[in-house]
Amino acid sequence: MAPKGFHSLERMEMHHESLWNEAVAFTRAKSPASFEQWFSGVQYDGMTDGVVCLRARDEFVREWVDQHFLPTLVDYLRSQTGWSVQIAWSVGGELERPVASSLGEAVASGMRVRNFVANGTHAVRTDDAVSALAPVEDESPVSRRAVTAKVTPPPLEGLNPKYTFANFVVGPSNQLAHAAAIGAAGGGGPRHNPLFLCGGTGLGKTHLVHAVAHRIRAERPQSRILYVSAEKFVNEFVQSLQENRMSEFRSRYRERCDLLLVDDIQFLASKTQTQEEFFHAFNALHLADKQIIVTSDKYPQQLERMEERLVSRFSWGLVADIQGPELETRVAILRKKAQMEQIELADEVVLYLAQTIRSNVRELEGTLIRLAAKSSLLGRLIDLDFARQELAATTSPRPNEAGVDDIQRVVCHHFKLRTSDLLSKDRHKSIAFARHVAMYLCKQRLKCSFPELGRAFGNRDHTTVMSAVRKVEHLRTTDPEVRAHLEAIERKLGTD
Ligand code: ADP
Ligand code: MG
Repeated sequence: MAPKGFHSLERMEMHHESLWNEAVAFTRAKSPASFEQWFSGVQYDGMTDGVVCLRARDEFVREWVDQHFLPTLVDYLRSQTGWSVQIAWSVGGELERPVASSLGEAVASGMRVRNFVANGTHAVRTDDAVSALAPVEDESPVSRRAVTAKVTPPPLEGLNPKYTFANFVVGPSNQLAHAAAIGAAGGGGPRHNPLFLCGGTGLGKTHLVHAVAHRIRAERPQSRILYVSAEKFVNEFVQSLQENRMSEFRSRYRERCDLLLVDDIQFLASKTQTQEEFFHAFNALHLADKQIIVTSDKYPQQLERMEERLVSRFSWGLVADIQGPELETRVAILRKKAQMEQIELADEVVLYLAQTIRSNVRELEGTLIRLAAKSSLLGRLIDLDFARQELAATTSPRPNEAGVDDIQRVVCHHFKLRTSDLLSKDRHKSIAFARHVAMYLCKQRLKCSFPELGRAFGNRDHTTVMSAVRKVEHLRTTDPEVRAHLEAIERKLGTD
């Protein structure tokens, strides 16, 4: 559920401060001897949306603390919040409020070591080498200017030059997304704003977004393009906040930008302050008719812990999804990649790979690269035998491969049905769903044809099986609940 409103900033900061203090106390308890010396050279500047801002007296302190104390500290914060915690360092300048005094006393107030430290339930890394170290010289140079390496990258940093439209294979599963991306790049057809691209992992979302950037850059070099992952957006926002550079940040995202591309927006879940900031950037750009493209692994309505008003804006333009590619598309993608990488592949090998690896394009591509590497290492052509051997060796072994009966049994057990239900004519919703799931899993895992499966499921027509398989394939990428069911059943069946 999306939070109702944004929390009061002040309250959140108080909460973060005490959380930070706990983490410090926890870390100190783990490594008492040298903690004070090192942390007298570190200042805590706040924490926002899982990004902790720290300032180190110098590079030496930063590196040492980073390597020897932060794993413990970050683990603690993560275990208490469930966030993906990140550290944003700045180095140099005066430390007004160091975390510890060099005399060995805690400076920050309210530090308490809770009992979980004493009873040691947390498995946290400590480093013995730390306690053996001599104290840091207090007279280290402090005149250095703050260094913030991670912010304000050049505009097109992080774009993969291979992710172009020319290298993208279009098929029924990604046709809409592709056409919409072309439109957004000004290449004809309607332009939707925003364009929301969604789909499972490894299906080409990032590829399409990069392709838009390449195209616009080539055709309108003066266009100001901003491409960021949502994760990077969070980092930049938090650092700007901490370093009082918010007006710069805002002008960058709200004014000095003609095309905003944000990848993996689902990463903003729970990050309420960043969401608010993004909301304003979105509004400013949208009002000025600047193109916005957002990618996500879920449909807007399925995004969790995302502000309602953001979710609704995501659907203002066009929501285009990408499905898992069909066999023909997988074949075409393999051919294209092989050609790009100058890998020689016989048709039968292409077909075999495309039939065997169905889940996502990244995996397909990974397998191809691996095969090519191995073949050049062994000086062997990639023929069908070789491909078979390799795939058998790298996909986990299946000691007692499940058959149709086994799959039906496991599915029934999972949904608390009888096997006879699956084979019956009963079209009750829950039974039909279980039946479809079982058909899908059989098709995925066994080398049965559709007619064979139809017979194995109470003499049904092969078209029934086909449409069931398609339906579940679709639901798998769009419905988290279905995906969870499938994953649970697949765990029981063993890895495929
Ligand atoms: P996502 O962002 O959806 O997780 P990516 O865009 O990173 O997926 O795609 C994963 C890999 O698969 C990339 O190397 C990409 O080039 C490739 N890929 C995905 N779809 C296609 C396609 N239709 N044509 C060519 N390559 C594709
Ligand atoms: Mg991606």
